[in-house]
Amino acid sequence: MSKDFLKGAKEAYDVVVIGSGLAGLTSANILARAGHSVLLLEHHYQLGGMATWFKRKGGHIFDISLHGFPAGMLKSCRKYWTQEIADHIVQLKGIRFENPQFSLRTTFDRDDFTRIITTKFGIPMETVSRFFDTARSMNFFDDQRKTTRELFEEFFPGRSDVVRLLMEPITYANGSTLDDPAITYGIVFSNFMSKGVFTFKGGTDHLISLMKAEMEKNGVDIRIRCAVDKIEVNADRKVTGVVVNGRRIGCKAIVSNANIKSTIFNLVGEENLDKAYAEEARAVRLNNSSCQVYMGLKPGEGFDDLGDLLFHSEHSGFDEQAMLSRNVSSRTFSFYYPETRPGSNRWLIVSSTNANFSDWAHLPEEEYQASKKDLIEGTLNCLERYIPDIRAKLDYIEASTPRTFEFYTRHQQGASFGTKFEGLKVSQELPQQIGGLYHAGSVGIIMSGWLGAVNYGVIVSNEVDKRLVAGA
Ligand SMILES: Cc1cc2nc3c(=O)[nH]c(=O)nc-3n(C[C@H](O)[C@H](O)[C@H](O)COP(=O)(O)OP(=O)(O)OC[C@H]3O[C@@H](n4cnc5c(N)ncnc54)[C@H](O)[C@@H]3O)c2cc1C
Repeated sequence: MSKDFLKGAKEAYDVVVIGSGLAGLTSANILARAGHSVLLLEHHYQLGGMATWFKRKGGHIFDISLHGFPAGMLKSCRKYWTQEIADHIVQLKGIRFENPQFSLRTTFDRDDFTRIITTKFGIPMETVSRFFDTARSMNFFDDQRKTTRELFEEFFPGRSDVVRLLMEPITYANGSTLDDPAITYGIVFSNFMSKGVFTFKGGTDHLISLMKAEMEKNGVDIRIRCAVDKIEVNADRKVTGVVVNGRRIGCKAIVSNANIKSTIFNLVGEENLDKAYAEEARAVRLNNSSCQVYMGLKPGEGFDDLGDLLFHSEHSGFDEQAMLSRNVSSRTFSFYYPETRPGSNRWLIVSSTNANFSDWAHLPEEEYQASKKDLIEGTLNCLERYIPDIRAKLDYIEASTPRTFEFYTRHQQGASFGTKFEGLKVSQELPQQIGGLYHAGSVGIIMSGWLGAVNYGVIVSNEVDKRLVAGA
C-alpha cells in the first residue's frame, strides 16, 4: 500500500497553502505566526520550489537558483523569518563581465556602477545620476507603457555598451527584455543597486531547513508529496477546500503558490470565473526558461579567485534573442568556493543560460540527450578560458534544460521567472473572482526572484490575515 502523506491531517484548516516556493513558505509562516491554523501542501518531496538543491555521488551539493539576490532579503528575512536566517546573508563582491565590448569587475552597486559608467564609458556624471534617480523613483503606479528600450534611449542613446552593462545581468536575473515595461527594470535594477548582490551562506538546503524549523515552531502542518488536484469553490464563488491525494480538506482561505495559469485553469477551472477575467488570464505570457550545467570538482581541487558571478558573452552586443538561443554565445558562471558552505572542501561551478522551452520541449529523446551533451561540451570549452585544466579537475557534471524545470517545478513551459508584467494584475485580482482565494508567487517580473517571491508572500498573507480576522 502506498504511504499516506496526509496521515493525521485535520479535516479543516483556516488556510491551505498550495506549494512551498519562497512565496508559499513565507505566507504559511506569517499566517501561522498570526495564530491561524495552516496546512502547507507541496507536491515535491522537498520544500523550496525553485529555491532548491540536489545532491550527487561524491558529496556534491548543487544550488539551483542561488546565484544572487538584492540586499532587501536581509530585512525581509529578519522581519518575516528569523534573525538567524538573516545572519546567513552575505554580499558577493566579485561580479565580472567579459565580452567583446568590455572586461571589468564590479561590486555591482550604485557607487561602483557610477564610477564605471563615468570613467570607463565616458558618460557625464549628471546623466548617470539622473538615470539612477529615475530608476530608483519608479514604482508600480507609473506609466506602464514606457519600455526599458525607451528608457535607455532617453539616457544613453546609441550606447550599446552601457545598455549591455545595465541590462545583461537583469535579463539573466528575471528573463526580462528591452520590450518589457521600464518600471519592471527600474524596480529590480534599483533593488540590486542599493547595496549589491547577496547570497545565502550555507546553501539553499540550510536556508530551507531553517525555514522548516521556524514553520514547525509556529505550528504549520507541513506535508510533502501532496499534489493538490482541485480547489473547491461553492455556489457563492468562495473557496471551501481542496482535493489533495484523493482526500478533501476544508479551509476558509487558500494561498496558491502554484503557477498562476495552473491555479486558474487547472485547479479552479474557468467555469468558476468571469469570462473576461479568464480571457485576461489566458493572455498572460510566461517568462522564458533556463539551461544550467552543474560542475563539481574533485575534493580539494579548486581555482584561483575568479569572482563570484561572471557574465561571459562572445556576442558583439547585448542581444536577448542570442541569449535565449540553443546556439549559446552567452553564459553566466556562478563560482562557489568552500566558504559558501562552511566546513566543505568543494569548489563548484554552475553555468546558466536563458532558454526557450519550445527549443527543447519536443526534441526526440536521442536528439535531446545529444543536445545536452553539446551543452556540456560547449560550457567546458568556454570555461577552459578561465580554468584551463577544468576537465582534469572535474569530478561530476550534469545539465538541466527547460524540460527539467517543467518536470520538477510544474511550471508551464518550465518558466524560470514566472510571468510577464500582465500576470501581476491577474494574480492580484484573483480574490475578487473567488472569495478567499489568493495567489502568491513569481508574477509580473517584479514579484519574481527570491526577494520578489518572499515579499509577495508577505503582501498576500497580510490580505489573508485581514479576511480571516474579519471573519469573512
Ligand atoms: C535556474 C534558475 C535560476 C534562478 N536564479 C535566481 C537567482 O540567482 N536569484 C533569484 O533571486 N532568483 C532566481 N531564480 C528565480 C527564483 O528561484 C524564483 O523566482 C523563486 O524561487 C520562485 O518562488 P515562488 O514562490 O514563485 O515559487 P516556486 O519556486 O515556483 O514554487 C512553487 C511550488 O509550488 C509547488 N506546486 C505547484 N503546483 C502544486 C500543486 N498542485 N500541489 C502542490 N504543490 C504544487 C511546486 O512544486 C513548487 O514547490 C532562478 C530560477 C531558476 C529556475
